[in-house]
Amino acid sequence: MLTSGEHFFSLRVLTCPPKGVHFLLRKKTLKLVTEFFNDFVGGDVEDSDEKVEYKKVNELEAGAYISKGGSLSKISESFEERPVQVELLEKIVQAFNENKIGVFEAGTGVGKSYSYLIPSVLWALLNHEKVVISTGTINLQQQLCEKDIPAVEKIIGKKFKYVLLKGRQNYICMRRLNDAASILDLFEGESEELKRIAQWAESSSTGSKSDLTFMPSENVWSKVNSESDACMGKKCPFFGECFIMRLRKEAASANLIVVNHHLLFADIESRLSGAGYEDAAVLPPYRHIIFDEAHGIENAATSFFSESVNRFKLNKLINQMYRHRKNSEYGHLCSLAVLSSNDQKMENAFDLTNKIRLSLTNVEIAAKDLLSHEYTKRLYEGTARDFGPLLVAIGELTRALGDFTGIIRQIMDGIDDDDKDAPCYWESKVILRHLEGYVILLKNFSVWDEKLDHVFWIQKKRLPADMIRDGADADYIILTQTPLDISHLMNEGVFEQMSSVICTSATLKTGRDFSYWMRRTGLTLSGEERVIKGEFPSPFPYNKNMLFAVPSDAPTPDNIQYQQWIEMALPRLIQAAAGRTLVLFTSYESLKSAHRTAVASMRGFPGRIMKQGDDDNSKLLEAFKNEKESVLFATDSFWQGVDIPGESLSQVIIVKLPFTVPNDPVFVARAEAIEKRGGSSFMELSVPEAVIKFRQGIGRLIRRSDDKGVVVVLDRRIYEKRYGNSFLATMPESKQMYEPLSEITKKINSFIFD
Ligand code: SF4
Repeated sequence: MLTSGEHFFSLRVLTCPPKGVHFLLRKKTLKLVTEFFNDFVGGDVEDSDEKVEYKKVNELEAGAYISKGGSLSKISESFEERPVQVELLEKIVQAFNENKIGVFEAGTGVGKSYSYLIPSVLWALLNHEKVVISTGTINLQQQLCEKDIPAVEKIIGKKFKYVLLKGRQNYICMRRLNDAASILDLFEGESEELKRIAQWAESSSTGSKSDLTFMPSENVWSKVNSESDACMGKKCPFFGECFIMRLRKEAASANLIVVNHHLLFADIESRLSGAGYEDAAVLPPYRHIIFDEAHGIENAATSFFSESVNRFKLNKLINQMYRHRKNSEYGHLCSLAVLSSNDQKMENAFDLTNKIRLSLTNVEIAAKDLLSHEYTKRLYEGTARDFGPLLVAIGELTRALGDFTGIIRQIMDGIDDDDKDAPCYWESKVILRHLEGYVILLKNFSVWDEKLDHVFWIQKKRLPADMIRDGADADYIILTQTPLDISHLMNEGVFEQMSSVICTSATLKTGRDFSYWMRRTGLTLSGEERVIKGEFPSPFPYNKNMLFAVPSDAPTPDNIQYQQWIEMALPRLIQAAAGRTLVLFTSYESLKSAHRTAVASMRGFPGRIMKQGDDDNSKLLEAFKNEKESVLFATDSFWQGVDIPGESLSQVIIVKLPFTVPNDPVFVARAEAIEKRGGSSFMELSVPEAVIKFRQGIGRLIRRSDDKGVVVVLDRRIYEKRYGNSFLATMPESKQMYEPLSEITKKINSFIFD
């Protein structure tokens, strides 16, 4: 079924063929257009293989908007012409006009959002198509929707429609919220929270969880949020006031749709699984994607296409379906059984829930035995024998869970159509889908050797202290299946299907080219002729404003003295910069130890010395930004999540080159795959991955043109090893020092403060 937005598109294409043929409207789309006319308009349009034209965006006119004398210069007081921004815009126009995939590295300060937003809007308006803009972070989505897109409306002087879409589960479902009142036994001790959500929903204009004034517990929210399986669509009594339906309508007629990578992959997955590309799936149909923060695509896709299960996830679902306590039975299965008059099944269900819990315990015991003192282990030829007892336990769990889902299905099938509006029916559908997903995941563990395109691994995690109940085991196990390689998925699901795709980020290059990133994301499978590449360096004066220093007297990281040395060096470097320092680690253990030493040795220092884990990441960043002399010791997401212009961030210290630790099972499996085909996993995977992270880390320092500061790398391998060149080659041109620590600390002070 075509959505309203596509109806307009269809009319336009068929009745008003534009001039200057250069693109084909896909035959399938023509077929849909034809069907629409014949079925709904009563017309008699013939299907045809005729070529349909698209209008080209004029690159000079598009570039003029942000050039000297253009409309941006008239509305922005701080306008400075940025030739690289215009060049990037022109390349993006070319990609739209010529059906290409653009790979564009644009340094900090290029202003790349205007460079892609303007061509996207112009294309969308000219050709009545949608452009999807996919980002890696919420911050960028907010910046686009609150600042950049409204500004583009003014710059081009035209109104257009844009919509920010988040995953469905971020929105309230009015039907589930209403039904929740009738199943209050599922809300023990949480009914107050439910009432607050209900109050908020009455006046909310978005229905989005992010607009709640408090953070609901995961448990409560998951029972009232929107779920595709629980959605009654047009049959729903709340259809007219549904936030999701309203958003869908808006998206169907929007020119730009802003999403995150995760939601985009959810859409791609559903299209690959049968929804196709011509109709609405998770998103309305589209043929153009802009990936901003494209350096994170591989991780985002890997995480999206990974599946995992642990005892909490599984128990929660089982309990929602069926619980037996003090001679009473609870859960959706009980309500379903009443509707289907199937008492025998209840008996079986009770036995099976016990069996599932027992099998789950056995899986945990076997996994913990296997892991012993380790935290992760991969299932592969080298460990298959050790995994034996765990696989037996997983097999038992799979059977019990499979039987349980079978019973639910039989009971649901036995319900009259008239009774299928009951809340228990819709809730059970959601739970059943999750449980059946777990059955597939568990079965896959048993046949891991037939699924060599996936990595199967187990992980031991510790519960947060406030969740550990008396006598309970604080450790729990996660079973995960991760795709070994997402390049084929990306090629088949994205690059082959789209008319144009723009991939942009400040860090796509490793060494001197894009080959690593293109290989990992499947772009090399697209054929050279479809790809346009370009580098657009930052206009900021790094050569004047950034000092890059590496202490030549640091021991190398494999030296036993290394940790001790950095714990001596960090306080000196921090004092030299009068605080204002972000220290980036690759290991939390090393971070904790260095932080302890710094706090002890810097008593009397006026700035706070904070560390990741002391508070929420966002609160830590806020404090770091507002307290000029403060210092933040951080790892993980802080390598790329920090955007603090000004004096509060005048020094970035990179403790070690950020190579992935070799006990990450997915990384090891990927490295092995490279070795198997005769490549060097170190040069083809470890180094380029570390280079991208390193560049992200360095990118925290200079956020606007008048920022000034120092990057200190305490790992002298960057100068002494041959692979160090891959890191150095990607550095912006800056002042460099490779001298003893004492010289560097002297220089830091004069560089920042003189
Ligand atoms: S239409 Fe679907 S998402 Fe909307 S309120 Fe009804 S059930 Fe919930």
